[in-house]
Amino acid sequence: MKSEEIGGVKIGLECHAQLLTRTKLFCRCPTNYQNSEPNTHVCETCLGLPGALPVVNGQALRYGIKVALALGCAIQPETIFYRKNYYYPDLPRGFQITQYDFPIALKGLVSIESTENGGAKEREIRITRVHMEEDPGRLVYKGTIDTAKYSLVDYNRSGMPLVEIVTEPDLRSPKEARIFLGKLRSILGYLGVFDGDREGAMRVDANISVAGGQRAEVKNISSYKGVERALAFEITRQKNLVRRGLVVTQETRHFDEVRGITISMRTKEFEHDYRYFPEPDLVPLHISGLVEELKREIPELPDEKRTRFATQYSITQEHATALTYDITIADFYEAVASKIDSKLSAVWIADVLKGELNYRSISMREASERISTDEFVSILGYLNESVITERGATEILREMLDHGGTPDEIIKGKGLASIASGDIEKAVSEVIGANKSAVEDYKAGKNEALNFIVGQVMKQTRGRAEPKEVREFVRARIDRSAEGQS
Ligand code: ZN
Ligand code: MN
Repeated sequence: MKSEEIGGVKIGLECHAQLLTRTKLFCRCPTNYQNSEPNTHVCETCLGLPGALPVVNGQALRYGIKVALALGCAIQPETIFYRKNYYYPDLPRGFQITQYDFPIALKGLVSIESTENGGAKEREIRITRVHMEEDPGRLVYKGTIDTAKYSLVDYNRSGMPLVEIVTEPDLRSPKEARIFLGKLRSILGYLGVFDGDREGAMRVDANISVAGGQRAEVKNISSYKGVERALAFEITRQKNLVRRGLVVTQETRHFDEVRGITISMRTKEFEHDYRYFPEPDLVPLHISGLVEELKREIPELPDEKRTRFATQYSITQEHATALTYDITIADFYEAVASKIDSKLSAVWIADVLKGELNYRSISMREASERISTDEFVSILGYLNESVITERGATEILREMLDHGGTPDEIIKGKGLASIASGDIEKAVSEVIGANKSAVEDYKAGKNEALNFIVGQVMKQTRGRAEPKEVREFVRARIDRSAEGQS
């Protein structure tokens, strides 16, 4: 793709993902602080008290290596932790333990389906490096960062294990950045090392430049949508500067989620400002020995699963993509498709169920507590045997998501069982009898009149009839009466 087409936009991302370990990266504090009071999941190590020594969490290291392997990276034989020195109230030691010259892995590739310039196109995004680091604590502001009169600090997050994934500046638009993050979230979810639904589980620093300017870095964007919005704002801001002949300076900016704008925080610090040096309290780690074992633990990943689904279940590429984004949905689909028609399952999971989940902002994991795969199979079975209509099936799903219950209970309770053909015929006769002028209009060639009659029958049968079937009945009935007249 020619980058000039979209104004020479170059975006690189540094994505920090919280790993789902039981304890923090360098201490034994539990990581499940999400619903706890501030500063309750802390110890001398993650509070940075003098003399406290860090110990590397082996599980976190294994998870990090798995992420790197899944992104096609080359695992480095030796990896070393560094101190990154800077002062900030959320960093009580005055340095962050991270990695620098010897990260766990270098050079990977992630392919994304870019929809830029119309049509889906495979694009490869280069991964520069993958490294491990600890999360700092969290500053809490009343209101927003620049209107608050004071800030509070919570160290529960301090020392949480992060894997940082750095890309080359290969992304060309805010939308591509969002697609890339979605892909990353998908892969990490497959590995079972990351929960994308957890608030703040993924935080992104975005480097962005437009043709003719230096790059700015937008720090600490904490939502997927936020990344796209922050980037869109930055592109407009930078392009306007260039257009007016002004200089885009290299600086660090903050994204204000509430106002949807970026604000200058400080002129960009340089790498040497951090005075990186190897962490003297941790020894270099030799990790090549783990690679073969961890490779065997890498499951089938989204791209492979998508290809397999399309062929094994004879479903469309679109359905295969939609069904493999989230591993929980993929597993749900396979369980359903093993028991009933795979194409029907694809339509009802990728199109209908996913739509209902999006509408309610709930994840498949939450939904599967309310709808089991067996229940889903039974809904599709009833639909196949015309016990219920499509509309009825949708209503059952909605009822189960909103209020619970089993398909059988809901069919009974709501009277959703399709009505017998005899009853449809009866309703058709009544409607035709009561709407003579509409019948004449239809005979005269007005198709809207047919729609009107069908609508009346649907109303009378309270939606329990299949519109297609009603239409046939009405047509047959009117044609028959027309023949009788001639
Ligand atoms: Zn601790
Ligand atoms: Mn970082």
